[in-house]
Amino acid sequence: MAQVKKLLVATHNKGKVTEFSEMMQDMAIAWLGLDDVGVTEDVPETGDTFRENAVLKAAAYAQMTGLLTLADDSGLEIDALAGAPGVYSARYGGAGLTHAERYQLVLQQLVTVPEAARTARFRCVIVVADGHGRILAEAEGVCEGVIAQAPAGSGGFGYDPIFFLPDQGQTMAQLSSTEKHQVSHRGRAVRQLEPLLRQILIPKL
Ligand code: IMP
Repeated sequence: MAQVKKLLVATHNKGKVTEFSEMMQDMAIAWLGLDDVGVTEDVPETGDTFRENAVLKAAAYAQMTGLLTLADDSGLEIDALAGAPGVYSARYGGAGLTHAERYQLVLQQLVTVPEAARTARFRCVIVVADGHGRILAEAEGVCEGVIAQAPAGSGGFGYDPIFFLPDQGQTMAQLSSTEKHQVSHRGRAVRQLEPLLRQILIPKL
């Protein structure tokens, strides 16, 4: 019988491990988070791009554990703010702020920016490294939208309440999680990664 391969997801966040395992349900993988394998270290995200950060994390944790490792990095790019918050999305405005405080800061910074110039996108890069830290696969997903004038909706997390999707006529926070996966940057990156991951998992003869 084929052995189920272990895949380490480079995160201490159990919710993220579950989210990836649910999005790639039919894959014969044992999904593990950093806490499941006793890794307490945090690899600093010092890259200037989402890809650099994802590569840094995947390679470092793979080398630490010898396991096939998946890492992602994502964030919001706002054109009127020259691409900010970008790779700093999680810490925009400083440490210790709530998600709501961070998106209120964004709304304040855009207060004089007209509708047509409020374009933005969520971007997600996912990479997979082998147990030696060599990058075997990478995928990128983008979701285009507009920064709303005010927050709406209570689903999702982060900047979802202010990210308006013109095609849906709703913010990301007003979508169900299934609807969000269909249009989101992370959902798109996962769908691109799936066939690549399947190839990696096929046992070599
Ligand atoms: P990370 O890739 O999990 O480190 O996420 C980086 C940050 O980008 C998060 O803390 C959020 O602020 C933002 N972000 C990433 N993906 C999303 C999303 O799907 N909705 C809202 N905010 C997001």
